[in-house]
Amino acid sequence: MKFIVGNWKMNGTSESRGALLKSIRNVITNNKIVVCLPFILICGNDFGVTLGAQDISEHDNGAYTGDISGQMLNDANVKYVIVGHSERRTYHHETNEIVRAKATAAIKNKIVPIICVGESTEEKNSGRTMSAVKKMLLESIPLSGEFIVAYEPYWAIGSGKTPSGSEIADVFETIRKALSNAGRDDVALLYGGSVNATNAKEIVNIKNVDGLLVGGASLKSDTFLPIIKSID
Ligand code: PEP
Repeated sequence: MKFIVGNWKMNGTSESRGALLKSIRNVITNNKIVVCLPFILICGNDFGVTLGAQDISEHDNGAYTGDISGQMLNDANVKYVIVGHSERRTYHHETNEIVRAKATAAIKNKIVPIICVGESTEEKNSGRTMSAVKKMLLESIPLSGEFIVAYEPYWAIGSGKTPSGSEIADVFETIRKALSNAGRDDVALLYGGSVNATNAKEIVNIKNVDGLLVGGASLKSDTFLPIIKSID
């Protein structure tokens, strides 16, 4: 079983949500399909598709205007939440410490955090990919509980560029070893960054890759369904 997780970011309407989820509901697959919607599109109905969110407050409730807690997400039937996406680390200045607190809040509320890690263009160009990813990983993961890690090189997100197969394999081996040394051999690892129907199958078959995190291509069934169908 592979994970195929869609990240809608700040896109979509109730109409486009209806269209995509209707097409996914009818797909026969052995894989776990999750769609991470903007908060406002999560609520409403039983959509018949596993729902994820794109952020979570590290707090349970209280005076945190604009934030959404794990209790609220759990109440809305959310099963997964993306934490530490590069866009949140960059535009909202989320540190590893905050990401770890958010992941811990998710677990406390029976939601599986998908913890994103990746290197910047500068780190890649200066040969620091492995050390940057390892540091971000070990400082962002919670101390216990179920979680997933998504490796998303910053420079690959929304750019149409992807690392080579051997680059992905090397980073995943580093992540796997680091998690194993931390006593965690049970963590699913996803790749994210410019996944499409042409490259999905090849990437998901790389050693240690347990699934995909898909941004732009998850917005429409025309582009998301071929990815889902390309993976056995
Ligand atoms: C993402 O933002 O999580 C992502 C993977 O985006 P894209 O697939 O559009 O590169």
